[in-house]
Amino acid sequence: MPARILVVEDNSLNLKLMTYLLKARGHETWTAGDGIEALRLLQATTFDIVVCDVQLPVMDGFEVARWMKCDSSLARIPLLAVTALAMVGDRDRILKAGFDAYLAKPIVPREFAREVEALIAGPPAAARDKVRSV
Ligand code: MN
Repeated sequence: MPARILVVEDNSLNLKLMTYLLKARGHETWTAGDGIEALRLLQATTFDIVVCDVQLPVMDGFEVARWMKCDSSLARIPLLAVTALAMVGDRDRILKAGFDAYLAKPIVPREFAREVEALIAGPPAAARDKVRSV
């Protein structure tokens, strides 16, 4: 089933790759290059999932996650972190901030859209088990 997906990423190549892979699966994509732009789009329209880079200009992914989880109209939207953060403890910090699941960069093209779809379809806890750890 086609989904409405917001992709938040400041790296234009990664953004192009992610939107390409999602569109190839029939999904509709919106894009934001920083956290503020993402929150503006989230106020204006509804999404089935938000795929969000963690290191972003202006407002980072941690702030986006905290905002979303504090807003009752946004808290239930699945929120997937896509990040290069690979230090011990980063995963816990990301999940603690409110992200439902975590994907490590680089994006694996064959798996990316499937992992996004799994998170849309299932409860976050189930999808989290499928997520690759770094
Ligand atoms: Mn970034």
